Amino acid sequence: MSEPRRTAELDAILRDPGFCRHSTGHTTVVDWDAGTGWSEPRVEPWSDLAMDPATLGLHYGQAVFEGLKAFRAADGSVHLFRAEDHGRRLARSAARLAMAEMPAELFVRACAALVAADEQWVPGGYGQSLYLRPLLIATEPDLGLRPSRRYRCVILAYPADPCFGADFRPLSVTTSTDTVRAVRGGTGESKCAGNYAAGLLTRTEAQAAGYDEVLWLDGLERSRIEELSTMNVFLVWRDGTEPRLSTPPCDGTIVRGLTRDSLLTLAQDRGIAAAQEHTTIDAVRDGLRSGRLAEMFACGTAGVVVPVGRVGIGGEDMTVGDGGEGPMTALLRNSLLDAQHRRTPDAHGWLRTIGRADENGGRRA
Ligand SMILES: *Cc1c(COP(=O)(O)O)cnc(C)c1O
Repeated sequence: MSEPRRTAELDAILRDPGFCRHSTGHTTVVDWDAGTGWSEPRVEPWSDLAMDPATLGLHYGQAVFEGLKAFRAADGSVHLFRAEDHGRRLARSAARLAMAEMPAELFVRACAALVAADEQWVPGGYGQSLYLRPLLIATEPDLGLRPSRRYRCVILAYPADPCFGADFRPLSVTTSTDTVRAVRGGTGESKCAGNYAAGLLTRTEAQAAGYDEVLWLDGLERSRIEELSTMNVFLVWRDGTEPRLSTPPCDGTIVRGLTRDSLLTLAQDRGIAAAQEHTTIDAVRDGLRSGRLAEMFACGTAGVVVPVGRVGIGGEDMTVGDGGEGPMTALLRNSLLDAQHRRTPDAHGWLRTIGRADENGGRRA
């Protein structure tokens, strides 16, 4: 829909896009109404959302989102990574908040239409992508507490480096025993706006204390590690002949990260042992002291795979390995990026090629 824009300005943005600094200037909009159901996706110029101040989504928090990426392969073609899985997760998040569930097929078409319209905004560098941020929010005005009968899905697009930058440094994380992110039965598994608001105070305090992020503990005992505010977490144990991966299980309190799932699959492909299991913060501390816990990393769509170099536990500051990036972390990040840029065969059907059929608001010819 837009003019192919190969201007010097766009070239400069794509060489150094940062993370979500420059939007493409387009959005895809899909509306849902209890009477008429889902509209067809419309690619539109970026514009403000006009909302009645009594809008349900603003007062009672019916708002969920996703984050997914389109990558350029060496031959110039563009591919969405695991778009259908992101669509299914958005629907699950929405269901938990009594919101309308967008069919994954419609979600994929809406994303594909935007990527097709903004194809020239997809950077080509290794690790670079077009980051899509779909938001689904209740738009009906009413101060009575009930599920909205109208929703809007708006998808934003930004050329992006991994969110910690092209040449990141390892993260430092710290735990909190005052506040928790999620409890079983709550909304911790959903990518709902309220979860992030609920974690912000602790995250801000952690940052004031010199850490990048919170390593959240379980809400009940406050003893088991769960995840970071926007990323899942992995441990790499070297306590036997082969290194062993470990990550907390998805049992209702952590987001079911698709990066997490992709890394587990890639590890399995490579014959690397990986367990989904609970680990106490005491075991993390002991492992770091003994050196058996050799690596730790965080993972998510925005940041990809980021080493954790330092962990603060109850006032004690501990270095992970030598504080830098370990070999397993590097191996898994490169395996994932190779799959995303189609440098390796798409053995798991994760890529959806963007073609001409995705233009015109996503209606297939
Ligand atoms: C989005 C998110 C993740 C990572 O999910 P991906 O599908 O890998 O992007 C992990 N934890 C939280 C809290 C998240 O919001």
